[in-house]
Amino acid sequence: MHSITKLQATPFQDQFGRYKRKLRISVTDRCNFKCVYCMPEHPEWMHKHNLLSFEALYAFCKFMVQRGIEQIRITGGEPLMRQGVVHFVQQLQALRTLGLKRISMTTNGHYLKQYAQALKQAGLDDLNISLDSLDATQFQQLTQRKLAPVLEGIAEAKKVGLKLKINTVLMQSFNSNQIIPLVQWALQQHVELRFIEFMPLDGDKKWTQQEVVSEQYILEILSSQFNVQILEGQGAQPAHQYLVNGQALGIISTITNSFCGRCDRLRLNAQGEFYNCLFSLQGLNIKQDIEALSFYPQQNGTLLNSKLASYIWQKEQGFHSLMAQNQSSGLRKISMHMIGG
Ligand code: SAM
Ligand code: SF4
Repeated sequence: MHSITKLQATPFQDQFGRYKRKLRISVTDRCNFKCVYCMPEHPEWMHKHNLLSFEALYAFCKFMVQRGIEQIRITGGEPLMRQGVVHFVQQLQALRTLGLKRISMTTNGHYLKQYAQALKQAGLDDLNISLDSLDATQFQQLTQRKLAPVLEGIAEAKKVGLKLKINTVLMQSFNSNQIIPLVQWALQQHVELRFIEFMPLDGDKKWTQQEVVSEQYILEILSSQFNVQILEGQGAQPAHQYLVNGQALGIISTITNSFCGRCDRLRLNAQGEFYNCLFSLQGLNIKQDIEALSFYPQQNGTLLNSKLASYIWQKEQGFHSLMAQNQSSGLRKISMHMIGG
């Protein structure tokens, strides 16, 4: 039977009728990697005293679950670099009775060997792990870190029984030669791989259309070596789903085939800026409103609710218009490591 709180959950909605069911929480902008498609050469880290505490983040997650959020993904920067994140996963379990169905994390995998068991015990449902190359030299060029700890982290996550997917961002002049090796590896490992088109959200604004490895190109390469079938019924998933030699594979083709029309996501960064779109030029600063939730929750919750409802309502139809606005205004100052993907 549904509890009263569950029945009261009215999901936020935007002006194009898209309900919001997923929330991404970035717990830090810091990262031990320097992926070419993400981190700027000279990052300016958020000041630690500006970060929301886990207590405040929990209060916000509770508030959002009571408003229809069903899935929470913890991301970064690198989320495993923030102390206390495993405990946060454990705390979130209490929200399942209010309607939370899934708690996930996106990580670069470097610290996973150390944390996989604890994350499993804390109740994490699944992990997305970034892996852009199986060639150690190329991996180092892409991330400025070593490949081996990531492979060990993946092995450990599998060993402790965490469900996982592998994310690969492809760039034409860096790792487009990895399509076949990564698929072969994923088939051997029995893990789901997802290729992601390079998006113009890198810190140093070096994105070019020529660097994008399109879904079309990936499929051409795959079809030359494997049996590729398309799966229908994508729902609100960003990835187009395929079966490659009988195993699931996803392609997230934001640039050539955006899923904006079905977007059900909301995002909060580590210092309390809220985004109704990954490509938003500016976030809505709700840090103080979140911190106030612990005091007079009813009154402060009503205030926050109306702020969010109106901001979410105004979500643009798709990211292309935001990119065009940014080209003329140059307003957007944040990159992927600050918002979490
Ligand atoms: N550090 C973690 C990681 O790398 O998995 C979590 C944060 S990272 C910003 C989240 C996801 O965004 C990763 O899968 C990463 O590959 C992806 N990403 C970062 N920059 C991107 C870009 N410019 N285009 C497409 N995906 C990007
Ligand atoms: Fe760090 Fe993830 Fe960005 Fe790579 S993609 S620099 S691992 S935040």
